[in-house]
Amino acid sequence: MEDKRYKILLVEDDRLDQMAFKRLVKEENLPYDYTIAGSVAQATQILGGEKFDLVFVDYLLGDGTAFDVLESIVDTAAVFATGTGSEELAVKAMKSGASDYLIKDPSRNYLKVLPEVVKNAIRHKKAEDELKQYHEKLVELVKERTEQLAEEKEVLAVTLSSMGDAVIAVDAQNQITLFNKTAEQLTGWRFEEVRGKPVDDIIRIVNEQTKQPANSPIDGVLESREIESGSDHDALIARTGRECPISATAAPIRRNDGAMTGIVMVLRDVSQQREIDRMKSDFISSVSHELRTPLTSIKAYAETMLDDPNMPQSTKQEFLQIINEESDRLTNLINGILDISKIESGTIEIIRKPINIASVAKRAAESLEYVAGKNKVRLQTDIADHLPELLGDENKIFSMITNLINNAIKFTPENGTVSVSAHLVNNELVIKVSDTGMGIPKDDMAKIFSRFYRVHRPGKQIQGTGLGLAIVKEIVTRHDGRIDVESEIDKGSTFTVYLPACSREAATLTP
Ligand code: ADP
Repeated sequence: MEDKRYKILLVEDDRLDQMAFKRLVKEENLPYDYTIAGSVAQATQILGGEKFDLVFVDYLLGDGTAFDVLESIVDTAAVFATGTGSEELAVKAMKSGASDYLIKDPSRNYLKVLPEVVKNAIRHKKAEDELKQYHEKLVELVKERTEQLAEEKEVLAVTLSSMGDAVIAVDAQNQITLFNKTAEQLTGWRFEEVRGKPVDDIIRIVNEQTKQPANSPIDGVLESREIESGSDHDALIARTGRECPISATAAPIRRNDGAMTGIVMVLRDVSQQREIDRMKSDFISSVSHELRTPLTSIKAYAETMLDDPNMPQSTKQEFLQIINEESDRLTNLINGILDISKIESGTIEIIRKPINIASVAKRAAESLEYVAGKNKVRLQTDIADHLPELLGDENKIFSMITNLINNAIKFTPENGTVSVSAHLVNNELVIKVSDTGMGIPKDDMAKIFSRFYRVHRPGKQIQGTGLGLAIVKEIVTRHDGRIDVESEIDKGSTFTVYLPACSREAATLTP
């Protein structure tokens, strides 16, 4: 540090003072490389082209004052010199950027302290520069972090608003601090309306079965200070009073030091899962029932025959006929379950060959004539001749049509009629199965093609598994077709299947 030489600009118009400065440097052997400017103009010019470690400037100059010089000094230490009695001026100079000041006395004693003042001013300037740089860096860092935080906040906000789950956060007082879009949709409240409100006033969870208030997982977290889940039977009561099955989980929000500052709760609408669960358990009970009924009857008839070896031939024949039919029912049921599991696993196989839809439809109707007769239902057909062929799986199409006819017979009371027709309309094969039966309630229409779905018909014992129409729909879709249903309660239903007809050439070309 002591070895370093300083580049100094002396701005002084008094020749005696200039000489005194030069003498001082020489006598004291000061490490200064100096330049002398005798006026403001000269100083400004020099400062425009050169950089100095320090500018030592006298207050009164021939063509101006030290303030004019200070104006053209950037990033350089400056020491201001003035005559006795002008301390005020000196303070003003410091405010304008000078690092220090010296009060000139007539006997030039001030020169004694000059070297120390210069050294300090340069050191002070250096420290100031470093501080300035550090400050600038800090500002830059704060700016960057703020931008980063804003970005993260934005990402978080977008994520929260696009989440399919409702997210609700509360503070230490259990008052709502966050409420995302899904929470708004699920509860019917808007964030503006619930912000700062006690969460218990807004989120009402009940037991789906008993309808009694259920323990909120938020209360659980308040007690345990750990993640808590609600029960499997939780339902949320929305603002409108609508009930929605939910799965609820809550977790503590902790600061870095571990202190709990709030709780976040996630609610998921599980109506679909609960509906599927309900359908599955309905299915299991109806399948067990369906399996048990034919089995019980097969066993009963077989036992009666075994117990009575002398049974007349005609009775034996009748019993065997029943056993045979019941076995068919069992086979159908088991095939249905197998088909459905193939549909679920996506492995249902369609073997495409050109098929004669008219003969398949006729065969399907014929196969059910016996059942129709037994149910005292008239079964009529109207099947066009010379229909174009269909590229498809004959067994699947046959089972699709028999399923529809079977349903039509099943849901039609005695003396009703079931009609099966097949025509070509607008180059599409249109197969209609209509009945004069009990019809389908409007609310159920959209669901009858879902797996396991059965219309609830109070007071009526109609057997089934809820699989038939799901299989029908899958077969139709896999043949690039579509199915429609029209129905009126106590008047009847019509199921219409549209399948693409294929020309002979296409049929032979397609494997
Ligand atoms: P399942 O017949 O085994 O109950 P499906 O999947 O074949 O199951 O049919 C689903 C529901 O659609 C039935 O429970 C029934 O209520 C209704 N349905 C189907 N076909 C008819 C029809 N032709 N007339 C009235 N209701 C019908």
